[in-house]
Amino acid sequence: MDFAAARERMIERQIAARGIDDPRLLDAFRTVPRELFVPLELQPRAYNDCALPIEAGQTISQPFIVALTIDAAGIGPHDRVLEVGAGSGYAAAVTSRLARAVIAVERIPELARLADERMRRLGFDNVLVRQGDGSLGCPDQAPFDAIVCAAAGPQVPEAWLEQLTPGGRVVMPVGAMEGVQQLVRVTLDRAGRPRREELEPVRFVPLIGAQAYDEPDRS
Ligand code: SAH
Repeated sequence: MDFAAARERMIERQIAARGIDDPRLLDAFRTVPRELFVPLELQPRAYNDCALPIEAGQTISQPFIVALTIDAAGIGPHDRVLEVGAGSGYAAAVTSRLARAVIAVERIPELARLADERMRRLGFDNVLVRQGDGSLGCPDQAPFDAIVCAAAGPQVPEAWLEQLTPGGRVVMPVGAMEGVQQLVRVTLDRAGRPRREELEPVRFVPLIGAQAYDEPDRS
């Protein structure tokens, strides 16, 4: 299978054709082999226009949704970015091509370990993967110019706004645990006042943590 050709088709048809045409962002997608961020048996479907299951019952987001979220965060070359919900590490890897540094927090130890291994193996040296509850942000690495989240919470965690630089952006899905949520952007102005915009209806797995949803009852 020609993954490079599939990747280029994905960029043209799923991202650029839907109106996200920032050349820096499209180039970032060109440099990340998505097939190496999914379980082996799903590699042939890595460039399909959908989310795919990964380890620990989680998902790797649809490529367009990754593009939409990163684009909304307006990431510049000097930015330090916190990515909450690293999952496979795919979105963090793409983001790392646009930013100075990415701190990627993942709650499930197995996923954090796999994502960290990938970053080392593939040479994404400006990504730091941490295991932990990202709903609390990452206080010892703060402040961040942008915080991007790939899991839906009931509201934007207060801790994140405290860990944002003036002018900083949070992009995250907000809404109920099941069903449709709204992709929301909160921008801090120079005086530290938040401004909130609703961008797009989306569907994400839940953000589980101290400033998010409770762990599902497994009994
Ligand atoms: N961007 C990822 C998508 C992963 S799905 C990718 O490209 O693969 C969202 C992830 O958020 C899941 O792996 C889930 O375990 C994680 N997650 C949920 N709550 C979290 C929390 N409080 N802190 C960190 N990660 C969390």
